[in-house]
Amino acid sequence: MIKKQWIKLSIIVLFISYGIQIIWQKSHEVSEIPIIGYHHIVEDKDKELYYKQNMWVNSLSSFEEQMKLLHDKGYHSVTLDDVYEWRMGRKKLDDKSIVITFDDGFYSSIKYAQPVLEKYGFEGSVFVIGSQIAKNRVKYKPNIRQHASLEDMENVPCMKFYSHSYDLHHKKGGFKVNLLNEEQLIKDTKKEASYVSIKYYAYPYGKYNDLIQKVLKNEGTKLAFGFNENRKAKITDNPYALPRFNVNAYTKLDVFYQMICQ
Ligand SMILES: [Zn+2]
Repeated sequence: MIKKQWIKLSIIVLFISYGIQIIWQKSHEVSEIPIIGYHHIVEDKDKELYYKQNMWVNSLSSFEEQMKLLHDKGYHSVTLDDVYEWRMGRKKLDDKSIVITFDDGFYSSIKYAQPVLEKYGFEGSVFVIGSQIAKNRVKYKPNIRQHASLEDMENVPCMKFYSHSYDLHHKKGGFKVNLLNEEQLIKDTKKEASYVSIKYYAYPYGKYNDLIQKVLKNEGTKLAFGFNENRKAKITDNPYALPRFNVNAYTKLDVFYQMICQ
């Protein structure tokens, strides 16, 4: 008799805890998530020496501080595969989800950002400019904004490499994406695909038009990202125009936190 009651009680407790879990999950599910974008990262002494006025070069200490804050506030990074599944309605993301990205394929993403990501259990995605990929493994020189080689990109823990176009990263005479015809855009995208995955694509300078969106869709890209829209990505956003936050050398820690939890 006592045994029967004990089983009954156990089942009730199980149902209640399952119910609480469902309610907790539902109340934390989100329909928008922050995607943050970095460029080059250097040691503080090199920032001071070579890049003091360059807003696109962040100091390692500020990056570390931002990652620590995310960690301390309970954030966890999600991959672009997670974002795709979420956007397609096949995966739930909670209100502590964040996406960490790096543009241009700088070697510093691997040398400096990666160990910090690993330390806090985060993952990052790097968008690589195919035409800028270094021919050989890079010997680090702090005064040059070096791009990584394909060898550098091999088997990097907690980091994935995707597309930032093969050679659209030009704006002389207008953003290059707006100067090319469909055939040329297809050629650029196919060439990029021979170096890195084009499953996910960040538009150079965050600039896009209908034609490049059409080309990417046809070439198999699943999500494409803008830059500097400085708002969260909504589940209802166009998957070929997802916004990102610009985290640059002027982004103070309190502003950084505000934008993520706004
Ligand atoms: Zn770029």
